[in-house]
Amino acid sequence: METISTELLVIGAGPGGYVAAIRGAQLGLETTVVEDGQVGGVCLNWGCIPSKAMIQAADTFHRLHKEVPAMGITGVENASIDAERLQAWKGGIVKKLTNGVKMLFKGNKIRLVNGRARLVAPGAVEVDRADGPLRIEAKKGIIVATGGAPIELPGLAFDGTDIIGAMEAVSLKEIPKRLAVIGGGVIGLELGTVYRKLGAQVTVVEMTSRILPGIDPEIVAACARRLRQLKIKVLTESRAVGVEKTADGLNLKIVSGEKENQVVVDKVLSAVGMRPITEGLGFKDMGIEIDELGFVKTDKHCRTNVAGIYAVGDLTGQPMLAHKASFEGEVAAEAIAGETGRNRHMPMPSAVFTDPEIGCIGLTEPQAVEAGYKTKIGKFFFAASGKALALQETSGLVKVVADAETDKVLGVHIAGPHASDLLGEAAIAVYKGLTTKDMAHIVHAHPTLSETLLEGFLAADGLAIHAVRR
Ligand SMILES: Cc1cc2nc3c(=O)[nH]c(=O)nc-3n(C[C@H](O)[C@H](O)[C@H](O)COP(=O)(O)OP(=O)(O)OC[C@H]3O[C@@H](n4cnc5c(N)ncnc54)[C@H](O)[C@@H]3O)c2cc1C
Repeated sequence: METISTELLVIGAGPGGYVAAIRGAQLGLETTVVEDGQVGGVCLNWGCIPSKAMIQAADTFHRLHKEVPAMGITGVENASIDAERLQAWKGGIVKKLTNGVKMLFKGNKIRLVNGRARLVAPGAVEVDRADGPLRIEAKKGIIVATGGAPIELPGLAFDGTDIIGAMEAVSLKEIPKRLAVIGGGVIGLELGTVYRKLGAQVTVVEMTSRILPGIDPEIVAACARRLRQLKIKVLTESRAVGVEKTADGLNLKIVSGEKENQVVVDKVLSAVGMRPITEGLGFKDMGIEIDELGFVKTDKHCRTNVAGIYAVGDLTGQPMLAHKASFEGEVAAEAIAGETGRNRHMPMPSAVFTDPEIGCIGLTEPQAVEAGYKTKIGKFFFAASGKALALQETSGLVKVVADAETDKVLGVHIAGPHASDLLGEAAIAVYKGLTTKDMAHIVHAHPTLSETLLEGFLAADGLAIHAVRR
């Protein structure tokens, strides 16, 4: 078998793998990446970026009916959506970014091998390629970054047309008239909102008693309110159990407590979460430890229990987010290059691109109370922000959770316009253990959305300027 050698070998070129490879090359390691699909992984090809492009387009279209005419811009109310052109536009963004990754590989002298890799020894993989098998020996380390795949529900297997996953949902060339979304989590609500704003009737079926598990209840409430305004029907404590094709459409059977219901739709989007891809990689033969949820166990430097093999990204557990994958990729590559200063166990920001957008970092109020903190809370509502009014996006709030004894910021939770971009400042406060006063004493430019954060930090001591004292 043809055999090549390298210093660092990365399996998978998603945000975990490609970032690991670039960092490895920057640190002087001869680096090879094996990818069996498209570089960029889920994130660039059908996850983060395509979904955000769709969200932007859907929101722009939706605003043409009410918000834009309200500004005195007329003649736009009857605009229509060309789903094929929308796809072409989205495809262009994906192409630019994936080509960009290939250029970065070239610029960093990273070798890209197309094929499916399987571990065959602690320092070696075999790659199933179109032009014959290849053995790659890695002298310094292997980083596995094979990511995740959508979970399939029993009785509701993906068929690519009627029952679809996120991959198909970001690529539809026709807007369905009636859409059922199974799962009231991040992906289900983001894509459900897209199709609602593009004109579909949308029903979300969620098994638990609430949408967006893990997010601060007050932040979720802002999102739930907007879902109601948008007339997205959310059925909680309801399980989708099967689907039947009829002349009128797809009958999705739903069990809510004792009751059995059905909703008739044109498409079913099943978005009940992602699972790590651990099969077919030789993990069992290598003795790589997997936890009870199916994720690869790693230490603070992303090492598995087998010397020389590291794992990063969706493969290693929650949160299954692109920036967590990239961060772990950097940590692993640095460790292989001998730099072990960074630890993967850091507070992870998370952004949800619902309407309003959500951005969170650190402890929620219930988590802080459970951890034994005496908390003080600062809240500020976007309705009182001049910038938010000008943007016509006044839903939501900033909620600062601080330690009442030390004044340290424990968490910041935002529902509102550009919440994901506002997170940077909040992350600095949490990472650096800053106090609400440290943050409140920074002058924030006017008029900006960042002033809502400033007011949130001030509000923790009852000192918000643009809020009526109660
Ligand atoms: C619809 C959707 C929207 C999302 N939006 C966001 C968001 O807004 N923000 C965010 O942070 N995250 C988001 N995510 C999650 C994000 O996409 C993932 O967390 C991220 O892509 C994980 O990166 P990764 O490198 O671990 O794996 P992946 O991106 O899954 O990449 C793994 C790569 O490994 C390759 N591979 C697998 N097995 C092999 C093998 N044996 N040999 C060679 N190659 C192999 C695959 O082809 C793939 O390219 C979203 C996900 C979805 C589905």
